[in-house]
Amino acid sequence: MKENIFGKDINACEAVMKDLGEARYRGKQLYQWLYEKRCNKFSEMTNFSNELREKLTDKYELFHARIQLKQEDHHDRTKKYLIELGDGQYIEAVLMHYEHGVSLCVSTQVGCNMGCKFCASTKGGKIRDLSAAEMLDQIVLAEKAEELRISNIVIMGIGEPLENYEEVIKFIRIANTGFGIGQRKISLSTCGIIPGIEALAEENLQINLAISLHSVFSERRKVLMPIANRYELEPLMDACKAYFNKTGRRITYEYALIDGFNDRDEDIAGLIKLLKGSQNHLNLIGLNEVQESAYKESPRLNYFFGELEKHGVNVTMRRKMGREIDAACGQLRKKEMRIR
Ligand code: SAH
Repeated sequence: MKENIFGKDINACEAVMKDLGEARYRGKQLYQWLYEKRCNKFSEMTNFSNELREKLTDKYELFHARIQLKQEDHHDRTKKYLIELGDGQYIEAVLMHYEHGVSLCVSTQVGCNMGCKFCASTKGGKIRDLSAAEMLDQIVLAEKAEELRISNIVIMGIGEPLENYEEVIKFIRIANTGFGIGQRKISLSTCGIIPGIEALAEENLQINLAISLHSVFSERRKVLMPIANRYELEPLMDACKAYFNKTGRRITYEYALIDGFNDRDEDIAGLIKLLKGSQNHLNLIGLNEVQESAYKESPRLNYFFGELEKHGVNVTMRRKMGREIDAACGQLRKKEMRIR
């Protein structure tokens, strides 16, 4: 089988050309064709000689995944895509319209191994990592389907991005330099993989880092998120501080409010103690209830928000989008697997 040329970064594009006995600048041109011009055929790369186009065609393919199914929420125009990958696996991407632009929620793995108790993506475990090409394809396919340009990327779909570190970083760099999406318009969410956070701090990227917190009490966090047994809350917060000191980038903490579990008054007090001040940002999320889970959405969201704001926590509420369409990560893929 031929190797897919899509997903190669600038260094790899240069290596391709070197390999074919071409000058280095040809690598830059290839990169421009693939990402800036979204060219889908070697035969249309018109500043390459016929001979070079043939050499590329002999050795490489230019493959994209395809949209298998599309759902739309007619209230807020949120769209969800079920995407079929080259090997027949499925992932999801979600497109959301905001006042500031169009945001795409991107998956990084087929399934997930993190086991968070409230999350639908992790129920069947992880099947494999996605390649950078497969993450870029989510942008390519959504933009093509809607005939628009995506301005923001949230790496918050199926999977744990910092468990697929190399490909995710490659994806971010190509999305930035190839597709022209600003680094500050890219957000990456992690359940708290400390070595990944430490590595990310050294990448010299201006992206937004989000940490899935969901409880300020170590033992409760472990109940919700098994990964918290390996990366405990206290060292995680130390890693976040070090990340801020190194990058100067404020960190967002995500907190899905669960009825009777993390929405108590002592949770409010704990959050104030942990996150008060300008270096932190707390994003409150209404829990998306998933099947086979006992956790229910909390009725205290507005109260919680008000109390935290009153006490100096930099807090926002994530607007729920795509309610009509199985929008919580992983639900559509799971349904598709059940049917099959
Ligand atoms: N693995 C990464 C990114 C994917 S999840 C992470 O854990 O951060 C993206 C965000 O959605 C995380 O904050 C996650 O905790 C949250 N999330 C997952 N399932 C949810 C649900 N059912 N309701 C609300 N938020 C959920």
